[in-house]
Amino acid sequence: MKVMKFGGTSVGSPERMKSVSKLITSSGEPVVIVLSAMSGTTNSLVEISNYLYRKNPEGANEVINRLEQKYMSHVEDLYSTEKWKKETRSFLREEFNYLRSFTKDLFTSFEEKSIVAQGEIMSTNMVVNYLKECGVDAELLSALDFMRTDKNGEPDTSYIKEKLTALLEEVKGKQIYITQGFICRNAYGEIDNLQRGGSDYTASLIGAAINAEEIQIWTDIDGMHNNDPRIVDGTEAVRQLHFEEAAELAYFGAKILHPTCIQPAKYAGIPVRLLNTMEPEAQGTIIDNVTLRGKIKAVAAKDNITAIKIKSSRMLLATGFLRKVFEIFESYQTAIDMVATSEVGVSMSIDNDTHLAEIVDELKKYGTVTVDTDMCIVCVVGDLDWSNVGFETLATDALKNIPVRMISYGGSNYNISFLIRESDKKAALQSLSDTLFK
Ligand code: ASP
Ligand code: MG
Repeated sequence: MKVMKFGGTSVGSPERMKSVSKLITSSGEPVVIVLSAMSGTTNSLVEISNYLYRKNPEGANEVINRLEQKYMSHVEDLYSTEKWKKETRSFLREEFNYLRSFTKDLFTSFEEKSIVAQGEIMSTNMVVNYLKECGVDAELLSALDFMRTDKNGEPDTSYIKEKLTALLEEVKGKQIYITQGFICRNAYGEIDNLQRGGSDYTASLIGAAINAEEIQIWTDIDGMHNNDPRIVDGTEAVRQLHFEEAAELAYFGAKILHPTCIQPAKYAGIPVRLLNTMEPEAQGTIIDNVTLRGKIKAVAAKDNITAIKIKSSRMLLATGFLRKVFEIFESYQTAIDMVATSEVGVSMSIDNDTHLAEIVDELKKYGTVTVDTDMCIVCVVGDLDWSNVGFETLATDALKNIPVRMISYGGSNYNISFLIRESDKKAALQSLSDTLFK
């Protein structure tokens, strides 16, 4: 079986829902479909929750009413028969009354998670009803029945596999199975989610659980591009990426795929294909285990980076110095992205500066500390195995007119990263595209 995941814009209007339905029925084989909430809905649900945290039920009700009107008008456009209009209207009415029920009581993150989960519950129900109206044998599987995280908040993969396999067995023989992305239950059985943008993760977890033939992530762009199309002109879709190349790109800023999504597919060895709902025939990007020898594939950039340098007060990097430095970051739950060391000091980059002041204070006990803010990591991805020659030079040469704060190479076979000023990002990305891909 294949898994097909459609994001918010792909189900963002009745029109889009209709074309998605056409797409998923055209393959002819049984598929598992994972849907996000209609675009904008999760943001609205978060907005509702924020009003309720601030004890402002009027504000929350206003957003609920606006959202309800929008959904009710979608019903008119999506269905052609009174039977399914009525059915869906009454489902949505219950949904919105459920949302209203939260405006009365105490509000905690537990309630917020229940609210935020409704976006996917609504989109999946609407599409299933539409498919049924079209005479398609579609079955809705509630993600809350099989998608679960453990006590550390990580997906409980053996539970997911066992539950989902049993569920699919119970309703076998259907043409299409539809479920919600993003939402799950936690180890205590409470409604939870896999973090914003987590529907890709759901698709990958499901693919791994059922040992799918392929996991397809459908968006509104024709695959992963070789550079950021919002910044650089003339970017092109990359046809193939190794799992690790895709993971680096997703982590370092490519918006098309959620960074967590690659892992389950990679471990299960299931290819992930990125496809475009607007252009279903286009090739897209395939992510698998194949390394294309000697090829630089793409460039991505991640903003809001802070660089921290500590110069040891003693001349030599004594044993245990790095451990002490890293422990400080760990104690503030701040992940380090890039590291560069020399005999006298170490430079690190972080993307979360919540505890910057405390971290700097503690680091000062061990040496002189310098901080550079508004930096950006530019990551070049491809076959960068150390035994290849010439590729590091090519990337560095492209940045010859740009001040580079740090370089990281050799941490993986697939990446070389540069830390530069955010204000130099556009020039850097353009020059890398001109040098590497022309
Ligand atoms: N609807 C969720 C969000 O907006 C999950 C997703 O779209 O992947 O974050
Ligand atoms: Mg997404």
